[in-house]
Amino acid sequence: MKLSKIATLVRPSQTLSISDRANLEREKGIDIINFSAGEPDFDTPENVKMAAISAIEDGFTKYTEYEGIYDLRAAVADYLERFNLKYAPEQIVVSNGSKHALKNAFTAIIDPGDEVIVPAPYWNSYIDIINMVYGVPVVVKTKKENVFKITVEELERVYTEKTKVIIINSPNNPTGVMYTEQELREIAEFAVEKDLFVISDEVYQSLVYSKKLQHISIASLGKEIYERTIVITSLSKKYAMTGWRVGFSASNLEVAKAIGNIQSNSTSNVNSIAQVAAIEALDNTEEEAEKMLKEFQHRRDYIAQRISDIPLISCMIPKGAFYLFVDISKLIGEKVDGVEIKSSKDVAEILMDKYKVAVVPSEAFGYENYIRISYATSMRDIVEGARRIEKFVKDHF
Ligand code: PLP
Repeated sequence: MKLSKIATLVRPSQTLSISDRANLEREKGIDIINFSAGEPDFDTPENVKMAAISAIEDGFTKYTEYEGIYDLRAAVADYLERFNLKYAPEQIVVSNGSKHALKNAFTAIIDPGDEVIVPAPYWNSYIDIINMVYGVPVVVKTKKENVFKITVEELERVYTEKTKVIIINSPNNPTGVMYTEQELREIAEFAVEKDLFVISDEVYQSLVYSKKLQHISIASLGKEIYERTIVITSLSKKYAMTGWRVGFSASNLEVAKAIGNIQSNSTSNVNSIAQVAAIEALDNTEEEAEKMLKEFQHRRDYIAQRISDIPLISCMIPKGAFYLFVDISKLIGEKVDGVEIKSSKDVAEILMDKYKVAVVPSEAFGYENYIRISYATSMRDIVEGARRIEKFVKDHF
């Protein structure tokens, strides 16, 4: 008996595997610092939990419209207006997190062999999702000199007749980098000229650490690019609702209908109770979300400074999301206990095994010589984790 080609191609999510290992060690009583999880450590706001409890008590426990209840889609449309995005509720589909929204979106637009341009460093699941729909990921390693952003020259270089989609993820996981309006305009022009779709993953759109720096959606930059962009977002990061699994796609009506049909035959609606909680999150949780954002900013400032003070390793200050992308290239080729460090994987392994700090090596994001630190964890862990990383460097180099 033989498994499908997809089954052999798809890997377990590397970030989730590292995080699971860290949690397992913690359960065994080991004082592990988990810098690997891409999830806020905050609890879901109280009003959101209460809304879910009321939904259960009110018996809101049946199937709903498969695209999501209308009031939720209307609330999402209102929310997206903050980013100059105008969508009717009919253009929005509620899915099981943005991961599921992405899978639906790719299923709706990719035929076998279609190429998808993926700028690296990338969020690791893109590659597996594209493989799952028989697409071909075309990875473009962006340059540090370009602040890890893809340029039109790079797009031109990899474009072929089979190119169908470009993925843009701003603010970016793992770098925290954000595209400017001008950069997005250039990519939009390219996409329109070549007749491409854009999948714009905006899950970190509200985690931006400067009032002056507004998140810009590529879909907001004109009618033509609006028509060909699928905006993906979710409640997971902004409202500390990772486990509730509520995400969205917003697109032109034809694509939205296709996404709805795909979902209607796979998972049906998102959990009815989570949908009610999602409305509460979107309508009444701004103050709480603002508090979490401030705390993330405080943590970012602290960890970026601590890492910058350590010799041999360095980082940029991320503009959004909650990750620090740390350059460890100067450690490559050095020896630790007589064994040569060959990659960021080796660094991550030593940090995990000897210093009990879980970080993600950049190979998981299609890039070399970096590690990703998530600062969506407690200040106590951030202080202690930074101390351990500093000790690692001082002990060996
Ligand atoms: N997109 C990016 C860039 C992410 O970092 C994540 C999660 O880490 C997701 C999508 C998926 O998030 P969710 O499915 O919880 O909405």
